[in-house]
Amino acid sequence: MLDTVGDSLDPKDWIAFRTLAHQMLDDMLNYTQHIHTRPVWQPLPDALKATLRKPLSEKTLEQTHHEFMTMMLPYAVGNAHPRFMGWVHGGGTPVGMLAEMLAAGLNANLGGRNQAPVEVERQVMRWVRDLFQFPDTASGIFVTGTSMANFIGCLCAKTRELGISTRKEGVGDSPNLTAYTSTAAHISIAQALDMSGIGTNALRKITVNTQHEMDITQLEKAIADDKAAGKRPFLVVATAGTVDVGAIDNLDAIANLCEREKIWLHIDGAFGALAMLSSTLAPRLKGIERADSIAFDFHKWGQVPYDAGFILVRDSTLHQQAFASPAAYLQRQERGLSANSPWACDFGLDLSRSFRALKTWFTLSVYGDEKLGQVISHTCQLAQYLQAQIQSIPELELLAPVALNIVCFRYYCAGVDVNWLNTEIVIALQESGEVAPSSTTLNGCVAIRAAIVNHRTTQQDIDALLVSTMRIGAALTTSSTL
Ligand SMILES: *Cc1c(COP(=O)(O)O)cnc(C)c1O
Repeated sequence: MLDTVGDSLDPKDWIAFRTLAHQMLDDMLNYTQHIHTRPVWQPLPDALKATLRKPLSEKTLEQTHHEFMTMMLPYAVGNAHPRFMGWVHGGGTPVGMLAEMLAAGLNANLGGRNQAPVEVERQVMRWVRDLFQFPDTASGIFVTGTSMANFIGCLCAKTRELGISTRKEGVGDSPNLTAYTSTAAHISIAQALDMSGIGTNALRKITVNTQHEMDITQLEKAIADDKAAGKRPFLVVATAGTVDVGAIDNLDAIANLCEREKIWLHIDGAFGALAMLSSTLAPRLKGIERADSIAFDFHKWGQVPYDAGFILVRDSTLHQQAFASPAAYLQRQERGLSANSPWACDFGLDLSRSFRALKTWFTLSVYGDEKLGQVISHTCQLAQYLQAQIQSIPELELLAPVALNIVCFRYYCAGVDVNWLNTEIVIALQESGEVAPSSTTLNGCVAIRAAIVNHRTTQQDIDALLVSTMRIGAALTTSSTL
């Protein structure tokens, strides 16, 4: 018998499956509800690592779920935790989690075709377009993250500069293209030039001022020098919220320059762009509405569960020309499932795509843009509070101005190697499970870096960071000066 119902992968006993499914849902709701009672992070013990490495063997759903609960859930990075302050990681929400489950159940492929999920993605794109005051002719799609969105922005800029023929001919032997970003830019900008065949040698890293913002005079000079040397400046990548300290480049001034020089302006707003949701912070991003393309993430400040990056491009025609590829099996029709062109696959690298728009749509609908904006400005207020505390504690030293939600500081002690000390403090804080900042290096100084992104973080959590830092700092300096 080839066609018995039992041959499918669906449960044979739906009643038992439902019971287990409800248990799984409860487990994750419990995890979120009581997350503050857990350690922020703890390493996966070797014994469990060894268990995970066993050869594939068939288990029941119950056993597999048990492995998740005992081997994975307690040992993740911990970014859902209010005391997680490492890197720039979003906290996620229970609403986003449920939407992700619904999307997985529907199992829609968002490459294109005539289906409601495509309309949801388009509607989120319209909301995004309005948020950044882009024209109706703009286009955009969800991508994995800002790294991919930066790459797409770079490819659009290249196509505009060299024409669509570059898609056939490549960049040629000596296209002389040059691009510009600041020394504080994210590594994905250089990767975008690398992957687009232009090469990282074409990227000029412009110095930053004391606020860690791109020096406009230096940018202007670099462009003029390159033009005089016969180069073709084609792209400026400005940053709204640098990864190290959260600085915002002077977007309006850079937009003026790009307009005058007819250079594509791409903005890496990975987390910072969503400051547009806060009425108090939005004016700081003045000029973002003049960009040719914007890359940002809903999974950072937007609190949407991973992953949910976005690329918005002002000129949808050019955006489509940079990516659309004819293929017989992707042919469009006026009616039926193959209608509804253009499709998302015409605007990026991916054909099969998940329904990232749904968890974003749920998040924006249920919490509302105002509430999300308040969450964003609250994290900035906590950063201001942390800055004020640091300035009032003699052992602590602020290492960068606090522009948004990131605070870089260090524990200082005369006669001790402070870079060693602060590297150790960050590791010890993480290993304590009490609070988890990350570290970075600013002008040669190792910094304790607290990026406050999570909507669950409160002033008590900031106090905990300070108390634990002081305790560990004192212990390390006493032991090392003995
Ligand atoms: C996080 C970040 C990126 C990379 O984004 P992903 O979503 O991790 O790919 C790029 N630029 C900046 C400024 C960032 O903060």
